[in-house]
Amino acid sequence: MKKKKCFNCKKLLDVSLFYKNKSRSIGIGAWCKECTREYNRSYCKKPEVKAKIQEYNQRSDVKKHRRRYMKIYRNRPEVKKRFKEYYNKPRMKLKRKEYRNRPEVKAKRKEYLKRPEVKARKKEIYQKNKKNIKKVIRAHKKRDPEKIKEAKRKYYQNHKFESLQRIREWERKN
Ligand SMILES: [Zn+2]
Repeated sequence: MKKKKCFNCKKLLDVSLFYKNKSRSIGIGAWCKECTREYNRSYCKKPEVKAKIQEYNQRSDVKKHRRRYMKIYRNRPEVKKRFKEYYNKPRMKLKRKEYRNRPEVKAKRKEYLKRPEVKARKKEIYQKNKKNIKKVIRAHKKRDPEKIKEAKRKYYQNHKFESLQRIREWERKN
């Protein structure tokens, strides 16, 4: 294996430990990967550089371009597949569940769903996909009726007070 001395740490290292750099005659960087990484890390941590990066990321044209690129990227079949696999990992599912169940997240979501424009959009989406949604629910019910029964029972146990209150309120009105 070919070895090369890093200009920064002065260690004699395997060439695979250097980044490729086409602008240099030997085709690899002067610093080893570790030194380059370390340099980039400390460079990005400088307040003035941090501010510059932030400013760049906030630019509307940059955002727009990035959004457009992400859309194209995420729609690539192999990327879609990878994302799906990632999101369906049990560990990720659990993580999402834990996040959703955090009281502050729950409260925020409740507030969000109360917003009239969100409600309207939800209704619109439901109207548009009514058939499909009903189909999915039906399939879900068929797949595991016991599980659903159990979930309903648990929900009732946890929301007993609220449901009783709702029933009482309804009775008062009628
Ligand atoms: Zn080095």
